[in-house]
Amino acid sequence: MLVHTIEEVREQIKKWKKEGLTVGLVPTMGALHAGHKSLIVKSVEKCDRTVVSVFVNPIQFCPGEDLDKYPRTLEEDYKLCEAAGVDVVFAPSPKEMYGEGHILSNDFLTYVIPPYFYVNKLCGKSRVGHFDGVCTVVNKLFNIVQPDYAFFGQKDAQQLVIIRKMVKDLNIPVEVVPCPIVREESGLALSSRNKYLSGEEKEYALALSKILFNIKSCYSRGIVDTGALAETAYAYLNEHHSLEYLEFLDADTLEEKQTADDNTRVFIAVKIGTVRLIDNILLSDK
Ligand code: AMP
Repeated sequence: MLVHTIEEVREQIKKWKKEGLTVGLVPTMGALHAGHKSLIVKSVEKCDRTVVSVFVNPIQFCPGEDLDKYPRTLEEDYKLCEAAGVDVVFAPSPKEMYGEGHILSNDFLTYVIPPYFYVNKLCGKSRVGHFDGVCTVVNKLFNIVQPDYAFFGQKDAQQLVIIRKMVKDLNIPVEVVPCPIVREESGLALSSRNKYLSGEEKEYALALSKILFNIKSCYSRGIVDTGALAETAYAYLNEHHSLEYLEFLDADTLEEKQTADDNTRVFIAVKIGTVRLIDNILLSDK
């Protein structure tokens, strides 16, 4: 079922809860691919009912980012969801989520602000306000859908840590289920933004996963100094890459690591042309 209003979702959820059914939520911005599908499949397996939200959330885009040109493919998204056994696809308009005139400034809207320690690093450094927008919309979706389980990809590992922290700090009764990164055979992590890449740029984009896989391989051969591990990245970068960050942080606390261990996650962001890509790897990942 495709629904566009909060009221319709609430009605459906009420019925399911009365029947004692468990509900899974997969929040997305649409342009669904196999990465999203892996979250959906997990939810359909684990929960009696699954809701997928498709919403390009304006308040998580910073000025100058790709809000207007972000791919919107609701018809295809709906087909993918239906085939995967999703019960409700919730695709609200910005007006439905943020009200008449949707005044998206924090002069007028109540925001959920995640802790600065988790935000002022990695993507949060260049995308000021991004995680406020993410936490606000995810919190709204939790209140609308009241899921027992919510599924998030490790592709956005900083986001996942921040959402887990929000759930803990605000006592939200939902279990967050982390899902592994889905990659193309080439190693490239699937992303809706890969659509922006030209054929050539897609080749350059392979540097991200190559850097991460090589660092993991160096670590497994005994190199633990993160400075030395970071140095190995330069062999994969050329004038087509603008490295935004390469950081070694604890996977749970996002504390910086000088010495890598199994719980170290390596995070990378690179701009290729106008396209900003992110990826990460846990050093103990299989
Ligand atoms: P988005 O539509 O980009 O906001 O992503 C929605 C959800 O799908 C987030 O939890 C992402 O982390 C997850 N996701 C996106 N790409 C991938 C991927 N390649 N593998 C696993 N999860 C992903």
